[in-house]
Amino acid sequence: METAGTNMQTPGEVAPRYSFLFPIGYSNSSECGYCRRTRSGQSTKRYSYYAIATSLTPTFYQKLVDRCWRRSGTLLYRPNQKHSCCPHYTLRLDSTQFKPTKDQRQAVNRFNRHIIGNTYAREAARLHPRSRAEVRRRHNVFDLVERIHESEAEVLKSPPSPDYAFTVTLEPDTFTEEKYDVFENYQRIVHREPADKISRHGFKRFLCNSPLSRETMVGPDGKERQLGSFHQCYRIDGKLVAVGVLDLLPDCVSAVYFLYHESIHWLNPGKLGALREIALAREAGYRWWYPGYYVHNCAKMRYKIEYKPQYVLDPEDLQWYLLDKEALEKFDKGHYVCFSKKEQAVGDVDTEREGVNDTNHKHIPESSEIDTIVSTQDNAVDSVAAGTHNSTASAGSEKTPEEVDDEEDEEEEEEEEDAFLLASNMPGIPSLADMEQVDMDGLVLRSDFSDTFIVASHLVIWDTEHVSQFGSLKSRIAELVAAVGPDLIGDVCIDFRKRPSS
Ligand SMILES: [Zn+2]
Repeated sequence: METAGTNMQTPGEVAPRYSFLFPIGYSNSSECGYCRRTRSGQSTKRYSYYAIATSLTPTFYQKLVDRCWRRSGTLLYRPNQKHSCCPHYTLRLDSTQFKPTKDQRQAVNRFNRHIIGNTYAREAARLHPRSRAEVRRRHNVFDLVERIHESEAEVLKSPPSPDYAFTVTLEPDTFTEEKYDVFENYQRIVHREPADKISRHGFKRFLCNSPLSRETMVGPDGKERQLGSFHQCYRIDGKLVAVGVLDLLPDCVSAVYFLYHESIHWLNPGKLGALREIALAREAGYRWWYPGYYVHNCAKMRYKIEYKPQYVLDPEDLQWYLLDKEALEKFDKGHYVCFSKKEQAVGDVDTEREGVNDTNHKHIPESSEIDTIVSTQDNAVDSVAAGTHNSTASAGSEKTPEEVDDEEDEEEEEEEEDAFLLASNMPGIPSLADMEQVDMDGLVLRSDFSDTFIVASHLVIWDTEHVSQFGSLKSRIAELVAAVGPDLIGDVCIDFRKRPSS
């Protein structure tokens, strides 16, 4: 799989650093991983807009996550909070304002004590005694960055020797058997997933080889920081025991997933992982920590809001609102919550909150659901690639995109309910009338039938198709533009090239 934007371009071509996206469309997923209702149940609906990213710049993806998007492997999605049994809200925590609770402080201290052991603690106190002022400071102030690193082998003064050698390294998000062993154990034991659902393929697809390009940037604070997808690997005596899958973006550490070996379950690894990520956001200057979507009616997600102060992204004005007591009361009262409006819009109260049958929502990609979307979209790739071919070469057309779409619909009847994003009234999304005013002529595309970028206005269909024709190539493109935001049109290349099967 291609991972960097630059290697997607023709050599010698000077082009902006596009992010390459393939539009899938707006649809209802067949199953909800949060309330476990199926469509045969009364009120399951979980509409999202989906796209596949073949390559993403961290800067562009930062803008997407600040517009309610998230990724799972190469699948990008933006949920409709209004049409969902379990509305998804984006959260973020200000690492510079973070105040760990007593419980969180204890988790770090307990872990550190376990690693260094009593002998080390006693001997170190004798060999490297702390000054009185230092002891007082530590008593009064819990410095998260200091404490989180305190038991690491490279920080500990030696002699003496700690009970265990603890290391944490930030590594590229490539597949290794060592990581897979931890993933397999975590899914099977901690997440209680059936063994036949756990595979190397699934691990690679969701948690390795992300479409984000890897690069470094220098922040306003002068600190150099890494961008891209990484595996933060925790080892005890050389054995890998936990992996934090992270997207490092210009303004945040975005937590994708956290997996650990059952042998360290008792040490509260999920909490330690979150605290280490917050410490990373703080010390490296990313500032914000994104714990992933928050679903208020899912009890197992409450742990996310135990880290404070946290902000919630309003789906309509895309501004951040403090997730305080008042905001949580709004969540308690309404199903769909909009913070930018004065009066609470109570929509979709048809969904009760009981029956939250849930295993573990520690950043779990809902694999069955995503499998469905990803497998069905392969047909879509063929159809749209064919559509582009027809439109650019305008010859030998066997099927119009609409015809192919119809076939897809028949195949997918059991799984998917496709709908028109521009008629969805989805919060934060421009309407059809808005999109008809957007100039998309300069938008660039790639297809297998051309070696260079294709400009949208050069497509044969461009003047004949209309944005309002649901299912047409032009309307598919307009949906994608609407979903990312028309102001980002210059950052995107619509990628109709056939992807190598993952
Ligand atoms: Zn649900």
